[in-house]
Amino acid sequence: MKSYAMSNGDQMPALGLGTWKSEPGDVYKAVRSALSVGYRHFDCAYIYQNEQEIGAALHDAIMTGEVNREELWITSKLWNTHHGLSDVRECLQITLKALQLEYLDLYLIHWPVAQQKDVIFPEDGSGLISLSEITLEETWRGMEEVLSEKLTRHIGVSNFSTKKIDRVNQTAKHKIEVNQVELHPLLQQKELLEYCNEENIIVTAYSPLGSRDRIAQMKADDEPDLFKIPEIVDIGKEHNCSPAQVLIAWAINRDTVVIPKSTNEARLRQNFEAADIKLSLEEMSQIDQLDKHYRYVTGAFFALPGSDYTVANLWDEE
Ligand code: NAP
Repeated sequence: MKSYAMSNGDQMPALGLGTWKSEPGDVYKAVRSALSVGYRHFDCAYIYQNEQEIGAALHDAIMTGEVNREELWITSKLWNTHHGLSDVRECLQITLKALQLEYLDLYLIHWPVAQQKDVIFPEDGSGLISLSEITLEETWRGMEEVLSEKLTRHIGVSNFSTKKIDRVNQTAKHKIEVNQVELHPLLQQKELLEYCNEENIIVTAYSPLGSRDRIAQMKADDEPDLFKIPEIVDIGKEHNCSPAQVLIAWAINRDTVVIPKSTNEARLRQNFEAADIKLSLEEMSQIDQLDKHYRYVTGAFFALPGSDYTVANLWDEE
């Protein structure tokens, strides 16, 4: 499996298993299957509300000797309720306890959005806190503290624009190592990728298959289907593989990390095998033409009346 070197020499595997929407009841089996297929990288988050079951699966696999902790790469994410300097550690400790781990490999600020501590998901502006009140720089200081306490080996962000990365890095003692964002052929984010490459920031592609299992309220009526794009279908036929595999191969061929979610054993195996598919320069440039700057995960759920969050200032795309 391809991997990318971090500044301390650790290697981040290019492919990981996404776990958002992986239901308790399914996710234990999915993680055990993924481990037996060869996955060593798991993408988790406090807000996915399934870390306890993932933790049980990791624990059981370690106890049976199938894998050891050092071979694993476990990412989790700080939820918006815990952006205060003294709250970061608390959120991470809840995650570590659920995952039955002493440390994470990577801890990310999940969103550049701060919420009231008792509001897990805001329904109006009163649940949100302005970034001028709890700044991203303050949250990053909390991240640096848990790093120095060795509760995580690396720290990074998610859903951050170049502007927000730059703002945090201006005062950071330890610079951002990873940015996890939505990436697929319809949202290629070339400028962001170029900026991150220059800053030695590894980029992880989330929702690489178009996040097809989101709840209906999170979906647009006319959402494009990545699996039906003719160029993707044709490249798949050429390699005798599925459209999903082309999308995963594309992400790895362009040197990003990719974290497709599946709880289905055949599909998670298929996704793992996609890491070995080499696309030609011509195929890469064909896919290059497909960019439409189309987001499946719009972030509109944080642009609530009564707050100063808007979709435009979330992505800094005014
Ligand atoms: P995704 O990986 O783009 O798509 C998952 C969907 O594709 C599921 O319905 C899955 O169904 C299906 N699928 C998986 N493999 C397939 C295959 N080979 N053929 C056909 N269908 C397939 O969506 P995502 O969950 O939004 O993104 C992946 C991960 O990125 C998340 O799970 C999460 O870890 C991370 N993420 C992070 C953020 C963030 O804000 N940082 C946001 C979104 C996602 P089955 O399970 O039934 O196979």
